[in-house]
Amino acid sequence: MEQDRREWDVLIVGGGPAGYGAALYAARAGLTALVLESTVPGGQIAQAETVENYPGIDTAVSGIALAERLRRGAERAGAKTVLTTVTALELTETLKTAETRAGTFTGRAVIYAAGAAARRLEVPGEEALRGRGVSYCAACDGAFFRGRDVAVVGGGNSAASEALTLSRLCRRVYLLHRRDRLRAEQSAVRALEQAKNVTFLWNTQPEAVLGKEAVTGLRYTDLTRGQSRELRCDGVFAAIGRVPSTALLAGQLTLDEGGYVAADETTRTGLPGVFAAGDVRAKPLRQAVTAAADGAVAAHFAQEYLRR
Ligand SMILES: Cc1cc2nc3c(=O)[nH]c(=O)nc-3n(C[C@H](O)[C@H](O)[C@H](O)COP(=O)(O)OP(=O)(O)OC[C@H]3O[C@@H](n4cnc5c(N)ncnc54)[C@H](O)[C@@H]3O)c2cc1C
Repeated sequence: MEQDRREWDVLIVGGGPAGYGAALYAARAGLTALVLESTVPGGQIAQAETVENYPGIDTAVSGIALAERLRRGAERAGAKTVLTTVTALELTETLKTAETRAGTFTGRAVIYAAGAAARRLEVPGEEALRGRGVSYCAACDGAFFRGRDVAVVGGGNSAASEALTLSRLCRRVYLLHRRDRLRAEQSAVRALEQAKNVTFLWNTQPEAVLGKEAVTGLRYTDLTRGQSRELRCDGVFAAIGRVPSTALLAGQLTLDEGGYVAADETTRTGLPGVFAAGDVRAKPLRQAVTAAADGAVAAHFAQEYLRR
């Protein structure tokens, strides 16, 4: 199988919109392109219940369907995918090597598109009850909480989207936010306000996830009164932002203070032949469309680098 080959023109770390955008353009340019993806092709967009703002889509599409189309489009052009986790990257001017659970791969160029992961609440009980009621993805896990009570923590677009998804499945959704209003888009805020089973708990902060075998509740601080309170619930969904998945790059590429790769609109990094695309890159708007666009740009400059 072609996936078994070990040497590629372009190794692409991460199979989200950026990775498959890069793979599509690299393959169409006649380069051999391998996407290394640790979980589900499509990245974060696969978690979106519906996507309505990806250009070219004139009707809401599920995140998982868009993710699948991104993969299929790139593979139809000739790119390949290996489902494996990159455990180490060695990036030098001459050699770029990815160590994975499926062995070692080398690339003449690397497009780093590992995206971002959910920020942890970092409260007691969170790690122990992860997967037993603590979740970071309503589209993935919401169905397990059908007819039950859940808490969502956060106040931005992700939190609003998670709470809306859950409001259609769960008996009651508590939305905890440390401020007294959401930062989410107005359309999402209005939809939440209209949902009869959503209760807003303003000016609150989680203290601990409660439960032994599974989540039974959430202890939180009422910041207005300075009091500790408890909420009975079966699930806790954290939606307090994302952190870039750039640990593999530590000491090899320049990262900004938030841990994002310092690369400009060309996606070039400080190391020749290494490009950073999508949510990992320091940039003002992190969306599927900007990630896919980054991927196309990265493939363009990778091609230029390789043909030089
Ligand atoms: C719930 C939710 C809803 C959203 N809704 C929308 C929306 O409606 N519209 C929109 O435009 N955007 C939306 N977004 C944002 C959008 O999904 C992201 O901006 C986009 O997916 C970023 O693409 P990316 O390819 O840069 O990174 P990601 O999508 O994060 O993909 C990175 C991939 O890299 C993989 N990876 C990471 N580390 C490794 C490793 N070591 N080895 C192998 N693989 C690795 C990950 O598994 C992942 O699949 C949403 C995000 C979320 C979480």
